[in-house]
Amino acid sequence: MIELSNVSKIYRRGADRIYALRGVNVNIGKGEMVAVTGPSGSGKSTLMNIIGCIDSPTTGVYKLGGVTVSRLGGKKVTELRRDVIGFIFQDFNLIPHLDARKNVELPLMISRLSAKERRYRAEQALEMVGLADRMKHLPAELSGGQMQRVAIARVIASDTQVVVADEPTGNLDVVSAKMIIDILWQMNKDGKTIVLITHDPETAESMPRKVVIENGEIIQTGDKYNAEKRQDQLLP
Ligand code: ADP
Ligand code: MG
Repeated sequence: MIELSNVSKIYRRGADRIYALRGVNVNIGKGEMVAVTGPSGSGKSTLMNIIGCIDSPTTGVYKLGGVTVSRLGGKKVTELRRDVIGFIFQDFNLIPHLDARKNVELPLMISRLSAKERRYRAEQALEMVGLADRMKHLPAELSGGQMQRVAIARVIASDTQVVVADEPTGNLDVVSAKMIIDILWQMNKDGKTIVLITHDPETAESMPRKVVIENGEIIQTGDKYNAEKRQDQLLP
């Protein structure tokens, strides 16, 4: 589903060059649940932005669902991102003047769904994250954990195959954080491919697969499945 081959990202700041990613190779299959972990500044968000088609590699190839993203034009990339990727950010990214339901409905506006269907989907998604009684609340009237659940409901309603979450529990208390991780597990059980960025070792450890990144390099891919498959292929 997600294939990065020799991906590097170099940021230029004046005369300086910052090597955010250095020759990263990683494959994530459909339906996997993966934690990406590593110290601050190691390139986790850069990696997520490339996976989410928000940013493109300086060199190397990124394929999403078999499609080489860098070969697509801007409009096609926007469509691919919209259809395939759901984002969850540390700071929730909700629209302050829209209530919870409208926030969830917003990405559905460009779809062919009728107003009634959009509303139904949004309400279903909010119910799934336990916010049936908060549909009419503005973000400012919700706790951090509730705001993040609205952001997740937005992804559920959009029904994208891949979900990328960049430190989604970074601003939350322990109880709310656990709730968020439980919802991500549920989404994975429903078949979604989940890429969870976290610098919390305990959360990373609790995931089926852990990718460790340090100083722009993947030092552990945690790729048991492919490792086993390669091992099988080596057998006579
Ligand atoms: P992490 O998410 O693991 O904390 P990032 O991917 O945000 O790491 O950053 C990796 C490196 O790239 C850091 O040194 C950071 O300062 C640098 N960086 C990230 N984004 C930019 C940018 N837009 N311009 C310049 N440097 C950047
Ligand atoms: Mg980051």
